[in-house]
Amino acid sequence: NQAKRQGISHVIFDPAQSQEQSRRLSVASELRRAIENGDLLLYLQPKVEVASGKVCGAEGLVRWKHAERGLIPPSEFISLAEHTGLIKPLTEWVIETGLRLNHAWQRQGCALPIALNLSARNLRDENLLEKIRQLRATWSAGAGLLELEITESSVMDDPEFALQVLHSLRNEGIPLYVDDFGTGYSSLAYLQKMPVDYIKIDQSFVRSMSTSKDSALIVRSTIDLVHDLGRKAVAEGVETQGDWDQLAALGCDFIQGYFIAKPMPSQDLPAWIAQYQPPITGLPQSPIRV
Ligand code: C2E
Ligand code: MG
Ligand code: MG
Ligand code: MG
Repeated sequence: NQAKRQGISHVIFDPAQSQEQSRRLSVASELRRAIENGDLLLYLQPKVEVASGKVCGAEGLVRWKHAERGLIPPSEFISLAEHTGLIKPLTEWVIETGLRLNHAWQRQGCALPIALNLSARNLRDENLLEKIRQLRATWSAGAGLLELEITESSVMDDPEFALQVLHSLRNEGIPLYVDDFGTGYSSLAYLQKMPVDYIKIDQSFVRSMSTSKDSALIVRSTIDLVHDLGRKAVAEGVETQGDWDQLAALGCDFIQGYFIAKPMPSQDLPAWIAQYQPPITGLPQSPIRV
């Protein structure tokens, strides 16, 4: 009967869902325009080598400079960019911006490796490698100045192809990082197969390390595992001197986090580095037993 049919048609046409869909569509076309107009910013967060206390590089983190909404964090548009294919032009903008920065800094004698984030979809893009070659040639990027970060799960989408891409990138002289390690679902066998130089321990473990025995245990065994595999360990999300001391005692190689500096506009980084004083590594209060 009529009422029943109407009921069914309501299930098929859900106004709330279609509203959400059209909102996403309009945000997507706004994002497309933002990428075309370069209404994006690359923030940089420095990374420090524990042994020397020196700034050894920075991670590039994108923000969307929105006329009405101000600076929009990546958590609010990266997944949309992935679902709409906009991640491709966005990533190209990010890589070119990093290379351009280093091009300018190289002439001032202060170039610094910049690590940029790739998403799963980038790894499935057959033109990625060629695009990166082109951009590096255009900006005559010195060896090692461009670094790339990938998450474990992005590799697991299509491991065979992704591993091939990673090997090619590595052969181009691009140091690679596994990002957010510990949150994905890759097996240790894949970790061993990945041609990566650095492994970044996810900040959820790092931040709870001082209050949770389990997290401290995970951080310690991850650092040991990373070293046994012949790679370097990076801790992200380091917020306190206590975290720094604990990580230094565990032999962590590199540290990134608010304790060193928050991500900053790229033009502020040279002055920040010039005034930077490395933290003094205190001896741990008590032997760390986890
Ligand atoms: P990520 O690559 O794991 O980057 C680290 C995130 O943690 C950054 O957030 C950074 O600001 C934040 N962070 C760093 N140190 C600390 C700390 O001590 N405490 C706390 N509470 N947070 C800290 P952000 O900039 O909001 O970026 C979030 C995520 O968005 C990134 O996580 C990355 O997955 C993604 N992302 C950022 N830029 C890009 C990009 O250009 N391309 C792609 N594909 N993804 C990006
Ligand atoms: Mg990252
Ligand atoms: Mg991370
Ligand atoms: Mg992340």
